[in-house]
Amino acid sequence: MLNLDRTQTPGIYQMKIIGAISESSDFTAKIENDVKELHVNCKAIVRINSMGITKWILFFRDLRKKGVKLKFFEVGVSVVNLCNFVSGMVEKDEVQSIALPFFCENCNTETEKFAAVDDLRATNFKLAPLTCPSCGQLTEFDGAEAHYFDFLTVD
Ligand SMILES: [Zn+2]
Repeated sequence: MLNLDRTQTPGIYQMKIIGAISESSDFTAKIENDVKELHVNCKAIVRINSMGITKWILFFRDLRKKGVKLKFFEVGVSVVNLCNFVSGMVEKDEVQSIALPFFCENCNTETEKFAAVDDLRATNFKLAPLTCPSCGQLTEFDGAEAHYFDFLTVD
């Protein structure tokens, strides 16, 4: 499901994608003609199947063709993994913030932390350890760090 809202700035709209994206989801939205910039919040996406990927790519490609500037916020781990696997989902300069998965070996707790892509770029994608919210131990990044950021760095 797509929720679309006008923001206070003329021409800038906010979209929230909620739930699963599949062949049965209505991945369309009535975008007004005055749209110049679309901010897409991805936090509430639960999964995207292969038909959903196709819908996503076509939907955003059409908007880019119309000259709409896209910004993706709070892109979750599963969508990051997809973006690394499937080209054409996002362009690297469109992504504003992503989830980082951490895993605590001490208490087996998974934690996700959102980070601004500008901050990640500023530290050359070197991650500081995260203190586990359950037990207070330092946790490890839970992913292939060498490739997790490929979609933001590789042309
Ligand atoms: Zn812990």
